Amino acid sequence: MPPSPPDGPAIDDAWVLARRGSRNVVDPLRPYACLVEPEFMPDGSVEDVATVLITNKECPFRCLMCDLWKNTTLQRTPTGAVAEQVRWALPRVAPARHIKLYNAGSFFDGLAVPREELPQVADLLSSFETVIVESHPNLINRRCVEFSERLRPRLEVAMGLETVDPEVLPRLNKRMALADFERATTFLVDHGIGVRAFILLRTPFQGESQGVTWATRSIEYAFSIGVECCVVIPTRAGNGAMEALASEGLFSPPTLQSLETVVEHGLSLGGGRVFSDLWDIQQLATCSRCSLARVQRLTGMNLTQQVDSAVSCVCDG
Ligand code: SF4
Ligand SMILES: [Zn+2]
Repeated sequence: MPPSPPDGPAIDDAWVLARRGSRNVVDPLRPYACLVEPEFMPDGSVEDVATVLITNKECPFRCLMCDLWKNTTLQRTPTGAVAEQVRWALPRVAPARHIKLYNAGSFFDGLAVPREELPQVADLLSSFETVIVESHPNLINRRCVEFSERLRPRLEVAMGLETVDPEVLPRLNKRMALADFERATTFLVDHGIGVRAFILLRTPFQGESQGVTWATRSIEYAFSIGVECCVVIPTRAGNGAMEALASEGLFSPPTLQSLETVVEHGLSLGGGRVFSDLWDIQQLATCSRCSLARVQRLTGMNLTQQVDSAVSCVCDG
């Protein structure tokens, strides 16, 4: 039975799917985006990191907040398509020495990235120093280790921890318990694979201050179990389900101030790197006086991993 909270709908795959809009037209032989951005590295340097957004079959999970399905296919990814996309992208992201192969799902889902392709993809990445892929914790297994052993670069796996809020995590329809995340993290770390955690700021069913509290607790938890890097993602609408919750007063996006507070706290822990996800951050720019300064501050903290001086504004309230 899906969770049936008193203050919201019973959320399951069918509920999420019924609220989806249309997906974008994508080419299974081309990534749907490539970009290069600077990132603070574990050794304290700032280096260019390429991100290649691989086009593939959509994720089998139906997380409440996810909109990544928009740029995926309904059909199984053809064998050879991922290697072809990587081959196409490499000259376009050179000379970056670190690469994220993000695939709107799990890199170790054989329907998204055909298993027989993994050695070929690993070999294409031999000139990099770091390769970062993403996966649902429940798809972490021996195949990750085999891929890591085939890779010359160091492997890092990014996984959605989302929130440690015990009331909310089951309601995200992610089919993951904290024990699953911890087991996957321990397994990866024990095999010399780095772990990056995605943490949501202000999930559905959380107020603003609750959102800050649970995001900071999520960072603390992540570092305590061996995660090396936390990425704080302001929860966004855009997939139909989130708009439906917003219309019932069950979801509102967080403020830029809350994002700053969570990142400040995360950095103060000294447990590892803490980044704010600034994609589409202008959606949170509600104050014309200070939003630009706050985004610049968050950008600076991403690149220095130091808490920068605070922005004050009449909107601080
Ligand atoms: S596991 Fe990740 S990609 Fe899959 S539905 Fe959940 S958030 Fe989206
Ligand atoms: Zn302001």
